[in-house]
Amino acid sequence: MKKIIVFSAISLCATFSMAQKYWQQEVNYKINVSLDDQNHYLRGFESMEYVNNSPNVLEKLYIHLWPNAYRNRNSALAKQLYKNGQTELFFGPESDRGWIDSLNFKSEGAMLKWDYDPEHMDICILQLAKPLRPGERITIETPFKVKIPSGEISRLGHVGQSYQITQWYPKPAVYDKNGWNQIPYLNQGEFYSEYGSFDVTITLPENYVVGATGDLQTQSELDFLSKKAKETESGIGDLLTLSKTKASEFPTSSTNMKTIRYIQNNVHDFAWFADKRYAVLKGEVELPQSKRKVTSWAMFVPSNAKTWQHAIEYINDGTYYYSLWNGDYPYNQVTAVDGTISAGGGMEYPNVTVIGNASSKEELEVVIVHEVGHNWFYGILGSNERVHGWMDEGMNTLNEMRYIQTKYPNNTRFSDMVLNGKFHLNDLDHHDMGDISYRAIAGFGLDQPIETHSAAFTSANYGIIMYQKTGLVFFYLKDYLGEELFDKAMHEYYEQWKFKHPQPEDMKKAIESSTGKNLSWLFTDLIQTTRHIDYKIQRVKKDKLTNTTQVTVKNVGQVQGPIEVNAFMDKKDRDSMLVETKWAEPAKKSTLTFNGTDYSRFSIDVSKDIPELKRSNNHWNKKLFPYCEPMKGEFLIGDHDINKTNFFWTPTIGGNAYDGFMFGGAIHNLGIPFKPFQFVFAPQFSTGRLRPVGMAEFSYTFLPATRFKSSKLGMSIRHFGTGDSKDAQLVSLAPYLKLNLGNRGEASPTSHDVLIQGSFRKDDYGMNGFTQLGGFLQYNYNVNLTDHRFDWKVRYEYANRNRVDDLIDYIEPSVSMNRVQTEMKYKWRYLRNKQKRWMEVRAFTGWNLATNTDQSAFLYSFGGAMGDQDIYMEEYYFGRFQPNGFWSNQRMNNMGGFNTANDQNERFENLSTVSIYSELPYIPKLFGVFVDAGIAGNKSALNAGVGMKLGPVLSVYFPLYRAGNALDALQFNQYGREIRFSLKMNLVNSSFRLGNLF
Ligand SMILES: [Zn+2]
Repeated sequence: MKKIIVFSAISLCATFSMAQKYWQQEVNYKINVSLDDQNHYLRGFESMEYVNNSPNVLEKLYIHLWPNAYRNRNSALAKQLYKNGQTELFFGPESDRGWIDSLNFKSEGAMLKWDYDPEHMDICILQLAKPLRPGERITIETPFKVKIPSGEISRLGHVGQSYQITQWYPKPAVYDKNGWNQIPYLNQGEFYSEYGSFDVTITLPENYVVGATGDLQTQSELDFLSKKAKETESGIGDLLTLSKTKASEFPTSSTNMKTIRYIQNNVHDFAWFADKRYAVLKGEVELPQSKRKVTSWAMFVPSNAKTWQHAIEYINDGTYYYSLWNGDYPYNQVTAVDGTISAGGGMEYPNVTVIGNASSKEELEVVIVHEVGHNWFYGILGSNERVHGWMDEGMNTLNEMRYIQTKYPNNTRFSDMVLNGKFHLNDLDHHDMGDISYRAIAGFGLDQPIETHSAAFTSANYGIIMYQKTGLVFFYLKDYLGEELFDKAMHEYYEQWKFKHPQPEDMKKAIESSTGKNLSWLFTDLIQTTRHIDYKIQRVKKDKLTNTTQVTVKNVGQVQGPIEVNAFMDKKDRDSMLVETKWAEPAKKSTLTFNGTDYSRFSIDVSKDIPELKRSNNHWNKKLFPYCEPMKGEFLIGDHDINKTNFFWTPTIGGNAYDGFMFGGAIHNLGIPFKPFQFVFAPQFSTGRLRPVGMAEFSYTFLPATRFKSSKLGMSIRHFGTGDSKDAQLVSLAPYLKLNLGNRGEASPTSHDVLIQGSFRKDDYGMNGFTQLGGFLQYNYNVNLTDHRFDWKVRYEYANRNRVDDLIDYIEPSVSMNRVQTEMKYKWRYLRNKQKRWMEVRAFTGWNLATNTDQSAFLYSFGGAMGDQDIYMEEYYFGRFQPNGFWSNQRMNNMGGFNTANDQNERFENLSTVSIYSELPYIPKLFGVFVDAGIAGNKSALNAGVGMKLGPVLSVYFPLYRAGNALDALQFNQYGREIRFSLKMNLVNSSFRLGNLF
């Protein structure tokens, strides 16, 4: 910019191009800090040089004071943790909290004015004494004191005397072409910091082992670590046999203090970890390109020696492969420390990474490689993680997948590790695990775009979309470009942007220019939207004349990317050998020509490297049904093989009051990931009635690009015994359409849907019976927050019932119903003396608009939620038509039904009720109290009692008080009959609610 001022006569055009030139700020830190491990404090003094390389004059600086995120429940961190159900910071004791204070910013000896950001107390605004012009630098100093919070909360913390000192010092926010990037500290959502140098001096008791960013300058400390490393190496056998308690005890802190110093250039953060128990391993790795040697350190608590004994190998291999694929590691040391704090996973800092408790060596290797890998994607390529988290996490996942595939080709132990080798997950590798997760969440329509702000992601999507889907998408790119071209592109991106702040458009430009490809299908469609991929083999045509085979592939999905087609031939000793692979460039439809005509099979993407939602249309075979795959049955559940039509089977048992004990089997295709077309076919044998009974369910799930989330069209079929007569049975058919409203990719606590269900029923009592035709239209609205749930349902219903046999004249030949009901449920969790309890209020109103006869008023009544009132067969009742006896006490908490009996018949044409159920403080959550009140015409009733909820399925209610009922006193002689229970087993409906999990 100086040049522009000096040569201002030069044309505007030149000025313009200068203004567009990339620039970044620089911050150089000198920090002295001492650890008080008795009271968990840091006391420090910081001096930072801030260099304004921007073309703008700065009058203030935004400074992050991130330890203040732990100060109280008003911080963005506390609110986010609370939202995700973690309440340590929100409700935990004062002693667990942390903060930074004793600040006194000065420059050139003069005090600087500063204020907290009005919204976030972990950000402050520092007013400069005089404007900082482009090219100028300023040195700012301040003392500081940090109270170290509990390590249970987030990344900065201590567990006993094990310290994780991260995000701990006053640090300027990034100022870039988009302006100031001041951001509060969050758990879900990472960082963005200026590059510069660090010169950090730490004073602490002599017997601490420290892992930190930077090159250690203190010879005595280097000797101390090397000695520790020798001791660990020779004593590893003893460590492995050390008892768990002995190995996790803290030795007493030495009264002698030591001061150690670290220096590092070209990094954007400094973290350190201190623990007196650490065993140390030291190694060395030679970089693939420069052949330079880098020192590696592993530090771990002796109780984890078993998983950590080969950690140096993981650190070295990670450093080697990331260097090979992206560019050499530019620093001198790489360290991994055992965090002991969080329940798993890890966290990256320049040169040093902290790893949570790993359950196995395999898991430790994956986590170490991932965190070490962040030195490239975060450390060296310093993207804005908060806004474009995929640029570090996703790119890192790609390299991690590649690492596992390279080091352990054909090895499936990583999927076995996750699922303990259970089920038939056929040869899934590390890539496939991501593939399955993505396709499952996208299949439900619950995915969000890769390019989503970290804080706006649901926690499931944060992991599955930002990490895994990005990894899959770039794996697809690598497959398409080929490793050589892909590696060249990554190296060029690395060289152009190392120690800088690349934005997504910079990355796209770098990769497009080095490959010569237009990659909008990836950078726009796959990264910025939830549009999904689905390719299909449309036609295979053999041309004897030209001796070629033409394969036409069609894009039937929402993304127009390149398509891989594999050709197979039957060879003498092996059938279906892969003989050729070709790529079709992005197009709606393309035809590829293969030489020869005797191909046995064509597949799209046989190695499953394209994150496609539906793969069943990817094949053509030389046989009678060229687009069908052979059937394969497996026990219980598993994954869907790419070249098989999978189904699963399981024996089943069941029972009800009419059929007695039932046994049979179920055949279904509910494997993972979910298929759009699903079926469950479950025939059973009724031992009570000695005949076949059972149920079946068929559905098709579809995923429109807009307006609707994943929606479902289906049919339920039930056939069971009913009534007293031996022949009595019922058959029900219920077609349904469930539309989940709203656009995919919105992480909103509210959701709503429309359900349209038809119903045909035939009840055959032998001598007589009825048929019923009807249906309903229902709208649901839900809000799901950590401590508040709201559900609103409104439903219009119609039914017409015709008597089958006219022998019995007290049954009217034809009755019909036309009614509306609405129910509102509000549930909230309250805190009483640190005990959290739920309270629920349910309000119901139902009106019969037209009942043609008395009998229809009786049949289609509200209030009891008894078996015979479940006219559309939505629930499971053990004794659907039991007038008395134990099974007659089963109720559903719907249709205004009281928790206990309220009237002899419990049937009302029009009814309004309010029910309250609450868990109580000091009493186990299993128990609660209820009050039910209702009015129907000129009748009113009030019941109260005690409830017992055994999970979401079974609840039991005991009445204690009753007023205004026809039953005007509790009939204690028949008390057993007054007890009600509710069994909620409608899993079809609850599977729709799976959305709440995400
Ligand atoms: Zn990561």
